[in-house]
Amino acid sequence: MTLQELKSIEKAFDVPLSEMKRIIRAFHSEMGKGLSDSDGSLKMIPTYVDRPTGDEKGKFIALDLGGTNFRILEMELKGGKNISKPVSRQFVLDRKYLAGDGKALFDFIAGCVEIFLKGKGIDKAAHFDLGFTFSFPVEQTGIASGRLLRWTKGFNAKGVIGKDVVRLLDEALAGKHVNNVKVAALANDTVGTMVARAYEDPDCDVGVILGTGTNACYREYISNIKKLHSGMTYAGQMIVNTEWGNFNKLRTNSYDKILDEGSGNRGSQILEKMVSGMYLGEIFRLIAKDLMKKKVLFAGTNIGVFGKRGCFKTEYMSAIESDHSAGLPDMARLFKKLGIKDTTLRDRQLCRNICRIVSGRASRISAAALAAVIMKMDRELSRKHTIAIDGSVFEKYPGFSDRMRSALKEIFGNRSSRVSMVLAKDGSGKGAAIIAAVAGSL
Ligand code: ADP
Ligand code: MG
Repeated sequence: MTLQELKSIEKAFDVPLSEMKRIIRAFHSEMGKGLSDSDGSLKMIPTYVDRPTGDEKGKFIALDLGGTNFRILEMELKGGKNISKPVSRQFVLDRKYLAGDGKALFDFIAGCVEIFLKGKGIDKAAHFDLGFTFSFPVEQTGIASGRLLRWTKGFNAKGVIGKDVVRLLDEALAGKHVNNVKVAALANDTVGTMVARAYEDPDCDVGVILGTGTNACYREYISNIKKLHSGMTYAGQMIVNTEWGNFNKLRTNSYDKILDEGSGNRGSQILEKMVSGMYLGEIFRLIAKDLMKKKVLFAGTNIGVFGKRGCFKTEYMSAIESDHSAGLPDMARLFKKLGIKDTTLRDRQLCRNICRIVSGRASRISAAALAAVIMKMDRELSRKHTIAIDGSVFEKYPGFSDRMRSALKEIFGNRSSRVSMVLAKDGSGKGAAIIAAVAGSL
């Protein structure tokens, strides 16, 4: 009986090579639409910046907003591919700012900048260019201007959608009399991540985030960004933010549909809802709840434990997949903590299988999307590509990066050795500072 249930879940989450190839084709078609401005699920946002040369110099401040944490950094670019170790400080972003008034959110951020400058004893007379990493879909209109298209990842502050977020930050800084800091560049975390790696690695041409949310950017020829042509004539390349979390040409199953219906952004961020840290635990919860209802799991008791949206974190899945001992005692302890006192070994094995199925699909969809992006630049994989990746799902989820690598091998064969995925931890803030430097040199 259990086997049957497991088989049907496996089937609902399966991403065979043929499906990865279909995703790649659909991805290319959506990329084409996004670059020429017709409606599609990929926004393909021009960023007005290309990768750095590694020779940019100066002291910069960066501000990194867009996920679980909010950080401010100060760092010095020394040229010759050298960067000082950033001095950084993390601030807790109280949940009240996520859904409150947008002005309060930006005032809070500006207040943190003031505290940071004071705390570091930074002279008020010294001028600083600031790179602002703002990791939400923004329609950029220049290197230091862009309107928020929509919130993602649980943010919902009022009165910000449609506004220029650089202006909001500048105004908030002025309100706090922080007059020596100018917002010189706006960046997405994918772009920051890519640029931070590219400063020292000329092969780096893709940035990926696999954390709370998921997204990617890559280098595109300006001549291919058709929607820019009216305003722009110059040749060369520019980083494009794909906003791939919103890709929707994917096969969804009944659990995906329930998850989407219960989300605050129904119908959007479909890929993100199958792949990122904010949602994997939730997919597990929905499956577990379903199997408990069918009395296949935990003898159908304690169903209330899985009743509340968001109560099963992706970290728990990581812990479950890390438990390699025969009797799965760690998992037994985890479930006890969650309120399920008695679990059988069979229950625990079933849970581990479900985790593998859910995370396996996530890693294969991520790999297919990544392959599509790489092939957009270099169809035959004729040169090396470094993919800078940040985010806890890629970094910490057991086997996630390995499964992505083996999926890339299925897609590309031996040429997949030309693709190296590297962890670019906390690159997004560092990258924003580098982009501020690039902006200063334009
Ligand atoms: P952010 O994307 O907010 O900048 P992270 O990259 O740390 O920050 O991603 C946070 C997300 O990663 C959360 O959704 C969390 O559930 C998930 N996460 C945190 N730790 C782990 C872990 N050990 N294994 C898997 N997912 C994790
Ligand atoms: Mg992050």
